[in-house]
Amino acid sequence: MAKKKSSSLHVQDGVEQPQQVNEKILEQLIQKRKKEFDVNKLFEGILSHDRVSLSQAITLIESNLPEHQDLAQELIERCLPYAGNSIRIGITGPPGAGKSTFIEAFGTFLTSKGHSVAVLAIDPSSQNSKGSILGDKTRMEKLSINPKAFIRPSPSAGTLGGVSKKTKESIIICEAAGFDIIIVETVGVGQSEVAAHSMVDFFTLLHVPGTGDELQGIKRGIMELVHAILINKADGDNILKAEEAKTQLQNAIHFLPPPASGVPTYVGLVSALQEKGIEEFWNHIQFFVAKTKENGTFYQNRKWQEVIRFQQALIELFLEHMQKHPEMNRFQKELETQVFNLKISPYAAAQKLFNKFKI
Ligand code: GDP
Repeated sequence: MAKKKSSSLHVQDGVEQPQQVNEKILEQLIQKRKKEFDVNKLFEGILSHDRVSLSQAITLIESNLPEHQDLAQELIERCLPYAGNSIRIGITGPPGAGKSTFIEAFGTFLTSKGHSVAVLAIDPSSQNSKGSILGDKTRMEKLSINPKAFIRPSPSAGTLGGVSKKTKESIIICEAAGFDIIIVETVGVGQSEVAAHSMVDFFTLLHVPGTGDELQGIKRGIMELVHAILINKADGDNILKAEEAKTQLQNAIHFLPPPASGVPTYVGLVSALQEKGIEEFWNHIQFFVAKTKENGTFYQNRKWQEVIRFQQALIELFLEHMQKHPEMNRFQKELETQVFNLKISPYAAAQKLFNKFKI
């Protein structure tokens, strides 16, 4: 032991500090976490339609831990050959439009027709979700206890109105688990519609008649993305207003370029609360699917969605790789400051960074 010095400035010899990260413990922790999820068991559980396995698989997919992501990828790859046999339906709309009420009614209707329905929904209790205006209300009460339905609320914080890359992966798992209708709910904020549109076959906007100028209440660009506009709350004193909205929207649709699907956009009146207009909507979806399978756009659309996802994954990987590189990271920050101060155009800055990355 070192001899004690008289100066008060002397720093006591302390106990030797352990290494910042104990590699062995870290490795044990990773192995333990990996063991929490047994891919073989999950895969078998999914194929035998076991809900607990399905829930666990989605939890694994949603985990951001690198060791979980590897397992999730393995599971998804194994499920892929069993996926694809469903109709993927997207439902978007502003908070309060009646999305959860509608999905409850629509999902219940579908199960009564013999379908099994998986709903990838927004968790209204999660931060920023702006999900339900009645945050404490249990969403989709009836459907959540329906044996032919599966509801998975996902946190929407940090994602595009509730849809993320993980949503697409969850769709694959639900399909492998035997669900033949997948409903993806999203809140119409930011770019969420584009993200949701890129993972479904049929995209629906839930609209509530507003001030009389219906187009004002609908975000620009969305009309071109959707296959159907449902005017909800067409009941009681609202009926007249809803009918006016329908006429206006139908007129507006004529000015849009013809849809690639070859099927005109559906505009319908519904009352989620009174369960009205739901069968007509479902009949239209069936017509849409039959028609687009016949003209090939159904499959083409799905293939393009895969290509888009490949491109997105590539961009993410490049960015991730680049950001791990301290020098590139520093250079990027420096260029960001220059772009902010209008010293360089964003394009020139990107080119500069790219040139450096190339060599
Ligand atoms: P979300 O935020 O889009 O999921 O909307 P909710 O489903 O939570 O509905 C918001 C409010 O609108 C609730 O008070 C519902 O009871 C009400 N609502 C939903 N659908 C209808 C409908 O068809 N008619 C009427 N009158 N009210 C509805």
